[in-house]
Amino acid sequence: MMRTIIFATTFLFCLSNVFGQTGNKKLKISHLTGGFYIYTTYNTYKGEQVSANGMYLVTSKQVVIFDTPWDTTQFQPLLDSIKVKHKKTATLCIATDFHSDRTAGLEYYKKKGIKTFTTIRIDQTSIKRGMKRAELIMENDTSFTVGQYSFQTYFPGEGHTADNIIIWFGKQKILYGGCLIKSMQDQDLGYLGDANVKKYAATVENVKKKCPAPKYVIPGHGDWSNVKALAHTLFMAQQLNK
Ligand SMILES: [Zn+2]
Repeated sequence: MMRTIIFATTFLFCLSNVFGQTGNKKLKISHLTGGFYIYTTYNTYKGEQVSANGMYLVTSKQVVIFDTPWDTTQFQPLLDSIKVKHKKTATLCIATDFHSDRTAGLEYYKKKGIKTFTTIRIDQTSIKRGMKRAELIMENDTSFTVGQYSFQTYFPGEGHTADNIIIWFGKQKILYGGCLIKSMQDQDLGYLGDANVKKYAATVENVKKKCPAPKYVIPGHGDWSNVKALAHTLFMAQQLNK
């Protein structure tokens, strides 16, 4: 019986992977659950093609985008895909750290009339590092309600960057981790040039406390099908101080 269930689940998962993705090879969109969609764009890092995950949420009102495409040619295709697929317009965009795989499209989206948000920490780093900036600045962790969905931004402490935030959907138990959280495929914590290696583990512990028993954990890069990504990230962060 168990085998049948597992088989059925796997089969459904494969189907949704085949039919849930749309668009060109530069922009991949996959359905997560309910109104949640993961979108992936690509860029070259150290001579290799690397993917970056963002998310968007289709509500009864409008669409919210979490992080902007990394690939600068995909800012408009993402908006167009949302419009075609859901007959709705993106009106809000929140970036989760200052790196360009999160922020590259902020000023483009602002020009398109989208309300773009970052935190004061992200904005200050963005100024210092010459990154694109949001129009609206959150001074503290902030709760949003858009249509039937509610979520919170949360700064858990320094980790991948000194400004990284996560987004927690308490009702759906979705942890959108951004680049602080690594995928199960990752053998290390990736680029640590802007990281706080001393505090990384404590910061991930704070995420664990804030987001109990998540049903989905979305890392900034790579596979998002395994909630163990959170424990895996914590384990790797603990190794940093050994
Ligand atoms: Zn990243």
